[in-house]
Amino acid sequence: MVEMKRSSLSLTQREERLHVLADCVADCARCPELAQTRTQTVFGVGNPEAKLMFLGEAPGADEDRLGEPFVGRAGQLLNRIIAACKLTREEIYICNVLKCRPPENRNPTPAEARNCREYLDGQISAVDPDYIICLGTIAAQNLLDTNVSIGRLRGKFFRYGRAKVACTYHPSYLLRNPAAKKEVWTDMKIVMRDLGVELQ
Ligand code: URA
Repeated sequence: MVEMKRSSLSLTQREERLHVLADCVADCARCPELAQTRTQTVFGVGNPEAKLMFLGEAPGADEDRLGEPFVGRAGQLLNRIIAACKLTREEIYICNVLKCRPPENRNPTPAEARNCREYLDGQISAVDPDYIICLGTIAAQNLLDTNVSIGRLRGKFFRYGRAKVACTYHPSYLLRNPAAKKEVWTDMKIVMRDLGVELQ
C-alpha cells in the first residue's frame, strides 16, 4: 500500500478540533430518539496524535452513564487486548460509530449512522491515525460502506483516507464466544507487525 504523509496538525490544533467537535456532539439532536433517551453523549477518548484508532459500534449502558467509550465489560476485555499489544489506552484513540446509546442496545439504524458520520470523519481527520481497527460488524460495515461479513473482512487491510483499516470481532462477541479470542489475537498481530511490533 502506498504510504501517505501524516497531517501536519500540531497536538494543540488536534485537541482544539476535537473539543469543537465534542461540543457539537454534546448538543446534537439529529436523531430525535437518541437525543431524548441518552444520559449524555460519548464522544471518544485517547491520544489526539494516536497512530492507532479503535472503532466500536455505539455506547452501551455503562458508557452512557460514564461518558466514555468501552468502560463496561466489553471495555475491560478491550483493555486486555490493548495491553497484550503492549499498548495503553493513553497511547491510542477510542471512539464509536454512534455517539449516543441506542435504547436497549439495539443496532444503530442506517440513518443514525449517517447522522453521526460527520463527527466520526471529524475525529478521524483530527487524529489522522495510521491504522483504524474496526471492532465488529457494525463498525466495519459502516466505515467501509460494505455488506460483507466481519468474518470475510478479517485478515486484510483496507484503506479509509490515509489510514489502513483492519477488522476484527467485537469484544462483546468475544464475551459470548471466548473461542474467537484466538482469531482476534491473530488479527492484532497482523496490525502490530505492520506497525513494526512483533508479538508472540
Ligand atoms: N460497545 C461498543 O461498541 N462501544 C462501546 O463504547 C461500548 C461497548
